[in-house]
Amino acid sequence: MTIVDTPERRQLRELTRAFVTREVLPHLADWERAGEVPRELHATAAKIGLLGIGFPESVGGSGGDLLDSIVVTEEIIRSGGSSGLIAALFTHGIALPHMVAAAGGQSGGLLRGRLGGGQLRGDDDLVDRYVRPTLAGTMIGALAITEPDGGSDVAAIRTTARRDGDHYVVNGSKTYITSGVRADFVTTAVCTDFPGSGELSLLVIDKGTPGFTVGRRLEKLGWHCSDTAELSFVDVRVPVTNRIGEENTGFLAIMQHFAAERLSLATQAYATAQRCVELATRWCRDRATFGRPLASRQLIRHRLAEMHTRAEAARAYVHEVATRVAAGEPVVTEVAMAKNVAVAACDQVVDQALQLHGGFGYLRDAEVERHYRDARILGIGGGTTEIMNEIIAKGIGL
Ligand SMILES: Cc1cc2nc3c(=O)[nH]c(=O)nc-3n(C[C@H](O)[C@H](O)[C@H](O)COP(=O)(O)OP(=O)(O)OC[C@H]3O[C@@H](n4cnc5c(N)ncnc54)[C@H](O)[C@@H]3O)c2cc1C
Repeated sequence: MTIVDTPERRQLRELTRAFVTREVLPHLADWERAGEVPRELHATAAKIGLLGIGFPESVGGSGGDLLDSIVVTEEIIRSGGSSGLIAALFTHGIALPHMVAAAGGQSGGLLRGRLGGGQLRGDDDLVDRYVRPTLAGTMIGALAITEPDGGSDVAAIRTTARRDGDHYVVNGSKTYITSGVRADFVTTAVCTDFPGSGELSLLVIDKGTPGFTVGRRLEKLGWHCSDTAELSFVDVRVPVTNRIGEENTGFLAIMQHFAAERLSLATQAYATAQRCVELATRWCRDRATFGRPLASRQLIRHRLAEMHTRAEAARAYVHEVATRVAAGEPVVTEVAMAKNVAVAACDQVVDQALQLHGGFGYLRDAEVERHYRDARILGIGGGTTEIMNEIIAKGIGL
């Protein structure tokens, strides 16, 4: 099974490619240096309907499903964009879906995927205050789960929210939060029982709420155009109306949404590999050593053939699993395998692509250098390779 390339999806690819060529490529190096993408980029992407892909029109999205989101992700990277750009511009793909789901909608955002269906209800207010403006490109959201004490063990979250009348009082801290510097609001995982109890809830916390401070901008190996922050909460009063869904349903909501985030990261991984195969092939055709193009030597041709095969095999498997997720199949183990397969392919291919570029591959001017740095996070974010292996081990009955 692969993602069917309908006329609509071909149009979506063309739209994405034109957006990247016109709005991203001339500026990406500057944004990498600045450590963030500008707010205007969100508005531009919203205007052409790209920001809302995978979110239903009933909440301000552009429609489409998880598979359409995958098409956009692929095309951004294959047009010369990057996984860092996706992290920065599509953070709402992890910040919004819980709100959309609690209101009864569906979303297949770029970083997360399809949830339950039906009509809007209860949390419509959150949809109006946060989802619509974010999909219109006028607000930026972030998702804060990870804490300084650990990220893999989500149930061990220690940031607490104590009920006080019609407010929660939040205390704790979060780290490595994507778009945390720029975010207007943060969908925050809090413990609504004693710390470490695993009884979690999700609260939407506005920037500027007294006691909520955004710490330093974290410097990173890659994803330079994506800002990353530490967040601190000291006696922050958050209205109960900013809770997503029922109290103590946060853990389940987080786990449900992980599947599509992992598929998005898997897509970023194989698309990065494909882009690097293309860059390396072009380089090896043009670069001559000892009087002949590199691409004329059997060793180089076979290396490129193996890189292409790895990227293609990863793409085919991720498409197969994504198609099953979109059809509603419970394929938790397969999603974990898809992430690990794609990340392993990406790691090998970016390393070899850089090697084939020789000294130039090590320079900031080389696109392959950026992919080499950006790729390293894909086996860490959204659940590490080791945590995926734990899921797979459980899935095979260990
Ligand atoms: C650039 C970047 C952006 C991020 N964006 C976000 C974001 O927007 N929101 C958010 O909430 N988080 C975000 N994260 C955090 C990310 O999800 C975590 O870093 C990740 O889940 C791992 O958690 P940790 O760093 O605490 O590692 P730990 O959980 O401390 O793990 C350390 C190492 O031990 C391994 N390990 C842990 N437990 C086991 C086990 N049981 N068996 C075997 N090995 C194990 C891990 O695989 C890892 O190799 C981001 C991180 C980065 C670097």
